[in-house]
Amino acid sequence: MFLCIDIGGTNIKSCLTDTEGNCLDRMTVRTPEMYEEILEVIGSVADKIDSFDACAVAVPGTCAPETGEVLFCPNLVCLTGQNLKNDLEKSLEKPVFIENDANLAALGEYYFVEKGNIKNMIFLTIGTGLGGGAVLNGELLTSDISLFEAGHINLTPDGRQCGCGKRGCLETYASIGGIIQTYRSLSNGKEAENVNVIYNAAKAGDKVAALTFEVFGGYLGVGMASLANILVPENIKIGGGISEMSDIFLPHTLKIFSKNIYPAYKNRVSIELSTLKNTAGLSGASALCKTKLSNI
Ligand SMILES: [Zn+2]
Repeated sequence: MFLCIDIGGTNIKSCLTDTEGNCLDRMTVRTPEMYEEILEVIGSVADKIDSFDACAVAVPGTCAPETGEVLFCPNLVCLTGQNLKNDLEKSLEKPVFIENDANLAALGEYYFVEKGNIKNMIFLTIGTGLGGGAVLNGELLTSDISLFEAGHINLTPDGRQCGCGKRGCLETYASIGGIIQTYRSLSNGKEAENVNVIYNAAKAGDKVAALTFEVFGGYLGVGMASLANILVPENIKIGGGISEMSDIFLPHTLKIFSKNIYPAYKNRVSIELSTLKNTAGLSGASALCKTKLSNI
């Protein structure tokens, strides 16, 4: 049995899985503000479980999986600089593994959906931000620091200000905030309450809303082509809340992707929607426990 935890900026999701990744017990708790409270939440989830063999935690930022330190967590700053692995191993008295949340989503989708039938895969999760993870030759692409910050590949050096402190990152265009900002600039300052309002307007034939999603889809296509040129995955999976709106942007994304990918790689990379959707991270945590324990 594995205790799988996904720490998000809003909620902490947990799930007890068997060794095949089946979820036996699921829980969602609001993310507290202090680091010690986060440890307490995870501790109390563990207390409710009879027994488990290991725990894996999906972290919403950059971490050092081997040493267990969280290095950069802009959306949940209380985690930055903390050694989450060591602190949880002390309180849970079990092996604990940590990894970036989008990387674990990639691993979950690869392990439980592709089941190892392909070699290389990229996973993008598009919501508040744009996260990414990759599997290369059947293994999660990671190192002494978690890799693959797909949202921060640079599209335009003098472009929009990004939360990371740089300008023109893919995430500033291809995310919920990016869509709302594009709509604002295309409509001369009109504010959309949320992204669903723009989506529904586009579906109802509003030209500015439709153009907003075309701009989003175009940037996404360019970004995906850049990533595909480096790793040449058999497929790129799209997950996260915005993937639910694919009917309105995906055709344009595919067109721009195909136009920008390196000629030798054309028609080798398919683009698909994620199957596991928002449980991919927890599934990846389960897969991480399984692969780590089998290597001990
Ligand atoms: Zn950035």
